[in-house]
This record gives sequence, C-alpha cells and structure tokens, in this order.
Amino acid sequence: MLNSLINSIKRWRKPEEPAGPRVVARSDHNLSRRDISRAALTVMKRLQDAGFQAYIVGGGVRDLMLGGHPKDFDVATDATPEEAKALFRGSRIVGRRFRILHARIGREIIEVTTFRGHHSDGEEHEAQQSEHGMLLRDNVYGDLESDAVRRDFTVNALYYTTNGFEIHDYTGGVRDIEQRLIRMIGDPSTRYKEDPVRMLRAVRFAAKLDFQIEEKTAAPLEELAPLLRNIAPARLFDEVLKLLMSGQGERTFELMREYHLWQHLFPDNAALLDDPAALELTRKALRNTDERIRADMRVTPAFLYAALLWPAVNREQQRLISKGTPPLPAMAQAAQKITSSQLAHTAIPKRFSIPMREIWDMQLRLPRRNGERAQRLSEHPRFRAAYDFLLLREESGEIEPGLGQWWTDFQQADQEQRQEMVRSLQRDGGGRRRGRGSRGGRRRKPRTE
Ligand code: ATP
Ligand code: MG
Repeated sequence: MLNSLINSIKRWRKPEEPAGPRVVARSDHNLSRRDISRAALTVMKRLQDAGFQAYIVGGGVRDLMLGGHPKDFDVATDATPEEAKALFRGSRIVGRRFRILHARIGREIIEVTTFRGHHSDGEEHEAQQSEHGMLLRDNVYGDLESDAVRRDFTVNALYYTTNGFEIHDYTGGVRDIEQRLIRMIGDPSTRYKEDPVRMLRAVRFAAKLDFQIEEKTAAPLEELAPLLRNIAPARLFDEVLKLLMSGQGERTFELMREYHLWQHLFPDNAALLDDPAALELTRKALRNTDERIRADMRVTPAFLYAALLWPAVNREQQRLISKGTPPLPAMAQAAQKITSSQLAHTAIPKRFSIPMREIWDMQLRLPRRNGERAQRLSEHPRFRAAYDFLLLREESGEIEPGLGQWWTDFQQADQEQRQEMVRSLQRDGGGRRRGRGSRGGRRRKPRTE
C-alpha cells in the first residue's frame, strides 16, 4: 500500500522540490475509508454536515500509510470546541493547556481538536509561554496550514478527509514516511523548548516505527534533555507508560540512553547501569514486558517500576545493613527513600507504588520457607509477581540461581510433595536458618518426622 502511494507521489513531485502544501488525490493514495473506525467517520460526517471541515490527522493517518493498525483516530476541524460540542451529545471539553473535545460515539471516544494558529497571534488568556519558552497554554485557533506547522513531527502532520478523499501534506510528511525519518517541524530547539515532552515523543516514534531521528531533530536532544525536569511528574508518568509499555520498551530504553534522556526520567536507575547486573535486570524487565504485550498478557507498571528502581533500593538496603540496620527496616527505609526520589521525576500512582513495594518486601520473604510459611507465601496476592521478580534477579546475575527453581517446583507439586519439600529444607538446615522470626513454637519442632 505504501509503495504504491509513494510511487504515485513520485510521479507528481520531483524529488528536488521542497516540501510544500501538497494534496494527494484519491486516485494517488491507497488510504480508504474502510480502514477508519465507524466512530471517526461519524464524527467527520457530522462536522461536515454542519458546514465544518474535518480531517483525520496524526497517528491514524501515519500508521495506516505504514500498513499498521492505528489504535485510535483523532479528528481536526475548524469548528471551535464549543461549536463541535453542540454536535455531539455527551461530549466533553477537556484540557486547559490545550483544549480538545472528547466526542463519544457508542463506546468510542474520538478526540476532536480545533485547528491551531500561531501562538504569538493570540491574547494572553489563549496562549502563554514561560520564561524558558515553554508553552503553558496553546488555544489560539487557525486554519489547516497553521495547524499542520504546530504539530510535532512531519509524519504526524498528514490530514485525510472523506470530503474528496485527499491527503493534505504541508510539511513533507509523505516524503519522511518514505525515508523513514522522524523530523521536527520548524526549528527543533525552539519546538523542544515549547514542549520538552516532544523529546520523548521523538524517541518513542523512532522506536515504535523503527525510524531514524533526522540529524537536526536529534542534535539538540542532549543539551535540552534537562528541560524534562520542568515537566509535571504526572504527565511524565503517562508518557513513561507510552514509552515503556507499548511493546517496544527495550528499544525505547536503548534510544533514550543514546540520546541522554533516560537519566532525566530515571536518575537512580541510570546511575547504576555501569553494574552489569543492574543493566541486565533493566533490559530483561523491559524485554519481558514487550514479550507479554505481544502475547496479549497482562502487564503492570508496578512490576516495571519495581525492576527499574530495584538496583538502587537494593544498594541502599545493603548500605543500611552494613551500618547495622536489620534487613527488614533497612528494606523499608531504602524503599521509602528511592520511591520518594523517583516521585520528583515521574509520578507513581498509589495503585502501582503499593504493589511495587510488596514485590520488594517479598524478596526478603521468599527465602524463608519453614513450616507453613511457603504455603502461606504462595497464597499471597503478590506471590506470582514476586516470584517472577526473583527469577529476573537470578537471570540477571544479581543473585545465585536456585531459590527460583525451588519455588517453580513448589508451585507444580501437590500438597504432599510440598510438605516433603519443606521438611527436607529443614533437614538440610535450609529454609533460611532459624533467624529472627523463627521463635514461634511450631517451627521449633525438631527433625523428628
Ligand atoms: P499514537 O500512535 O501514540 O497515538 P499519535 O501521533 O496519534 O501517536 P497522540 O499523542 O495521539 O500521538 O497525538 C495526536 C497528534 O497530535 C500527533 O500526531 C501530533 O500531530 C499532535 N501532537 C501530540 N502531542 C504533541 C505535542 N506535544 N506537540 C505537538 N504536536 C503534538
Ligand atoms: Mg493518537
């Protein structure tokens, strides 16, 4: 599909021509309304029937041109959010920095954005910029062309309309899709300063699409990466999920390191990556996540964050132990310290930070298997995640393998075999020596059986 599209474009544009406003006619591309969700088509039609323009823009057009399956479709229009809202029952205007309409069609939500204009044309309540050049508000409206140049990358600024079935390309996006390039529209430094999250987006799309970041687009990344510290942690958390939990986490991680972005999102992880076990643990956690996503299995940020922060938590715990703090409180203090240090960069909602800490706590409990403990642990709601995490630590070389296999066997064993496994631990003096916490009567029962 892409090839025939590109061939047809070559026919009508000589390669040396600069990128300019281009309209690719219906006969010259293979995008079809059949590829577009019913809900998005409904939104376009209703806007058009009311006399407005309506285009599919962004990831939807880009991914279709690449032969992929877009996860959603966004619509751009010349209707203001209020005008559009009047056309869709149950729709809501969301966002302050950037106001958009969520139009609900059946169960689908289609994001409808009004064409943006240049922000310097606006009043202060419409557009606002910080002293660093960051856009605090961007609600100045314009036309299709001004909207195109306000978007981030050329490949994200292609517009498709069912009114004539054309693709509009004002920034050379079709050519960049052909050359597999992520290219910033306009001056890259200025655009990153307006919104530093665009740095992460450059890497995200490069990883997702397997594109190169065009040279001038990549050049300012290292210097401007510290601007990520000015972004609200909640927005960065959302962005982290898109970066690391969309199926290309490992590749994204490598690119983020290459472009010096990683250290600004996960400084405690980045500081320890010289340790081969920490690097391996990070890579493996991301690879597992990618594989699970590909296999349609459940993934949770709790597990991923547990892995990313573990090397620092572990190190801090060891430091406290070496100063005389007992292991359990040392773990609690280390977890507290590293978690709050991370919160300054990316938020971690409680529903993820609580299980994350349980996964860490259970790393201390998994070696202690005496008496009823193994059975009880295996019934803990976080057992499966903690066990997977233990395997990850063994595979990455942080700890000697062995315990993981024991737990694998335990899960496969029947009740009788389980009891025998625990008894034989006690015979071998395993199951974690009589340490603290083994003072209870039951466990004291010596090896009489
Ligand atoms: P995805 O497949 O991840 O949804 P997408 O390209 O659709 O990719 P969205 O985050 O859904 O990305 O944004 C939709 C469109 O809005 C983008 O394609 C781009 O044109 C524009 N856009 C989004 N974020 C920015 C930004 N920070 N700066 C400029 N334009 C942006
Ligand atoms: Mg999208």
